[in-house]
Amino acid sequence: MNNLSVLGYFEVVFSLYCFCIYFRLGKHPVQVWQSVVMCAFISFIVVFGAYIAAPSNGVFVWAFVLPTLYYLLLGKNYGFIFSIVLLSLQSIVLINKSSLAPFTSLNLCLNILFAYIVIWAISHTFESSRSQFSKRLKKLAMLDPLTGAGNRLAMNHYFSVELRERAQLYLFLVDLDYFKQINDKYGHDVGDKVLIEVATLLKVTFAKGYVFRVGGEEFALISSFNSEHAALAVAEKVRAALENKYINVDNYKINLTASIGVANYKPQQSLNELLKAADKQLYKAKDLGRNSVYYPAVKSDKTALI
Ligand code: GH3
Ligand code: MG
Ligand code: MG
Repeated sequence: MNNLSVLGYFEVVFSLYCFCIYFRLGKHPVQVWQSVVMCAFISFIVVFGAYIAAPSNGVFVWAFVLPTLYYLLLGKNYGFIFSIVLLSLQSIVLINKSSLAPFTSLNLCLNILFAYIVIWAISHTFESSRSQFSKRLKKLAMLDPLTGAGNRLAMNHYFSVELRERAQLYLFLVDLDYFKQINDKYGHDVGDKVLIEVATLLKVTFAKGYVFRVGGEEFALISSFNSEHAALAVAEKVRAALENKYINVDNYKINLTASIGVANYKPQQSLNELLKAADKQLYKAKDLGRNSVYYPAVKSDKTALI
């Protein structure tokens, strides 16, 4: 319309890029670099448009849309950087224009500056509180409120989304022995505090992997190991750490033990199948007297492993 055909070509290329991203979205999640390219590309179009068009065309007004887009697509840090860069580039382009007609320079500059800063500030505040809120929600959804260990949802998420390398993956199912007796003897409150201490001990002893609380007094520990021997040695270390720990709660010194069922991940296995395999070994460990680590065909008790 304004004989700015070069600008039109860039806009067509940008639209095609947006369509490609849109169609890929059904199959793949959007990558950070794709969002960065999108923001950089549209910023270039807006600054270039402001540079080649006369101010009376109003192309420069598009800059006001961008801070919101930056914050939505890139988050707080990149959003801030892109917003300040765009403001600087737009200012340089407009200041260097020979004429800002039909506007007067001072009016135009002040209005652009303040309108842009208001939109930028709103986007920044909104995105900051949104990301804080989303972190809090994620924590609420993924962590067991009593012990702070990951819950089942966190374990499913870890297994199906975060876990990249599954070869040599092991799951230890840890069930505390005779825990009901601790509740009966000292009360449920003390039992709760013991569970918190146990979760802390597991996180420290099993620092190499992830600890999830999957039942009342049952924890799943997941990690990869170089060999079966290394995995069983760590399972034994966890068992021994619990056996040797005296937990101080409300002036009581409580000592407990755990039985551990170990399962090795098999290709194509689901998390439920892996858990079931570990559960089977756990039952054997319980049957064979508790306070032991059990792995298919090998009952590795304290003496066998050390
Ligand atoms: P076993 O050696 O066969 O595992 O015996 P156990 O007593 O540990 O097993 P059982 O499954 O019979 O009992 C588990 C007990 O754990 C039952 C319940 O009182 C206790 N428990 C489960 N969740 C909690 C909890 O959140 N807090 C407390 N204090 N106790 C819990
Ligand atoms: Mg149990
Ligand atoms: Mg138990």
